[in-house]
Amino acid sequence: MADTETATKDDTAKEDSEDQHTDHSPMASESEREDDAPKQAQKAEVSNLDIVRHYFDKAADHMKLDDDVRVVFWTPYREVTVQIPIKCSDGKIHVFSGYRIQHNGARGPYKGGIRYHPEVDVDEVRALASLMTWKTAVANVPFGGAKGGVNCDPSKLTQAELQKITRSFMDKIEKVLGPTRDIPAPDVNTNAQVMAWMMDEYGKLHGHTPAIVTGKPLSLEGSLGREAATGRGCVYMFREAAPSLGLSPASTKFVVQGFGNVGSWAARIMQQLGAQMVAVSDANGAIKNEDGIDAVALHEHISEGGLISEFKDVEEIDPEDLVAVPCDVFIPAALGGMIREDNADRMQCKVLVEGANSPTTPAADEILREKDTYVIPDVMANAGGVVVSYFEWVQNLQHFQWDERDVNDRLATKMRKAYRDVSGRAKEEGLGLREAAYLVGIERVVDAARTRGYIETPSSSS
Ligand code: NAD
Repeated sequence: MADTETATKDDTAKEDSEDQHTDHSPMASESEREDDAPKQAQKAEVSNLDIVRHYFDKAADHMKLDDDVRVVFWTPYREVTVQIPIKCSDGKIHVFSGYRIQHNGARGPYKGGIRYHPEVDVDEVRALASLMTWKTAVANVPFGGAKGGVNCDPSKLTQAELQKITRSFMDKIEKVLGPTRDIPAPDVNTNAQVMAWMMDEYGKLHGHTPAIVTGKPLSLEGSLGREAATGRGCVYMFREAAPSLGLSPASTKFVVQGFGNVGSWAARIMQQLGAQMVAVSDANGAIKNEDGIDAVALHEHISEGGLISEFKDVEEIDPEDLVAVPCDVFIPAALGGMIREDNADRMQCKVLVEGANSPTTPAADEILREKDTYVIPDVMANAGGVVVSYFEWVQNLQHFQWDERDVNDRLATKMRKAYRDVSGRAKEEGLGLREAAYLVGIERVVDAARTRGYIETPSSSS
């Protein structure tokens, strides 16, 4: 059962007072952890919103973006917050909060995932929505940026409760959605099943509309290749960068933080290229083996309900020590803020491929720059998901299905183009990839916003 708010006055008061006095630092969370809860690597105190704003402002400074134009992108276009009261299996009503935030739609319908996590709040969703605006622009798919989320913990919910939350959430946000308005997709703790429920609920009001969400099951007009796309895109980005770094995928050792959808697919595809996974973590622990951990077998083990620590022939390690495992490539694919000021210096990788959104805080980014770590930032590295979501949407609008090879080839073309656009710009201007990617993204969005008249051009305002 969900560990959230029940609708009693006493509990609400307790929540408020606890919130005012809670120290959210990693140390505090550590001491408050229940004895039987697995140890997890902690997140930094800097929020995802601070992280995205910092990177946006840095690029905006570099391109001398006018202050009045910047302000347009500091805040989202539209924010919807809804209450989701659900009677759960304990017989009580629990009230969850749901968010859909549309950051900018200058380049097309809003696009972005739906996250289910107890720590989801309005600021986190704002941050992720704006990141989507820049990501869709860097990948050059005709979408704007949005994100959604519900502050629930699926690990404590039954499937029936999860379905009720999903349907109720869709009922309450459907007015701002639509195949030409805003198209959700899966993110942390949501999957093809959740998308199927969302599509079905939307269909009750609007008729069968597969293009309302992407990341659907194949039986409901999902796209071949979508489930693996974000992880595959990360690998394609690494493959583009490898030659200039003197690396060959076949002799690469890599580490994955967060063996979920993105992390496990990135690991399985890296392994197909001959690379070897030497350490990996998820919310239940971390393991290592210098001689390699079979990503396919680990995926099967976890899918069958096994714990990561119970996998064969591995050494269990403290999740905080994962970052210090020697490797060529480190792939963060869990939550934001996990590469922090206090652990970035321990990293031993040559390349960081950001599968997760906002995994690296600005202070950690600076440390990695000084260490000469090659960072392929989230805003391009994990764009594979939204690229294949775009392909799924196109297929849905035509009620047509491409074969998997076609999807993967087109994904490779899009990722290669994004990598070359950004790395070319980085070279021209003497910047890191992150700043160059933001520059490319911001320019494309500002150009579209001006051209369609959403913001005035300098000449028309005089
Ligand atoms: P997921 O829920 O499938 O996987 C998340 C994984 O992280 C799980 O294995 C979980 O156990 C693990 N995890 C959670 N807390 C952890 C901790 N403290 N330490 C180590 N592992 C931890 O989610 P996902 O869809 O794979 O998303 C992962 C990241 O990738 C997120 O940041 C998400 O925003 C980003 N992303 C996802 C997509 C997509 O298409 N799914 C696209 C772009 C970006």
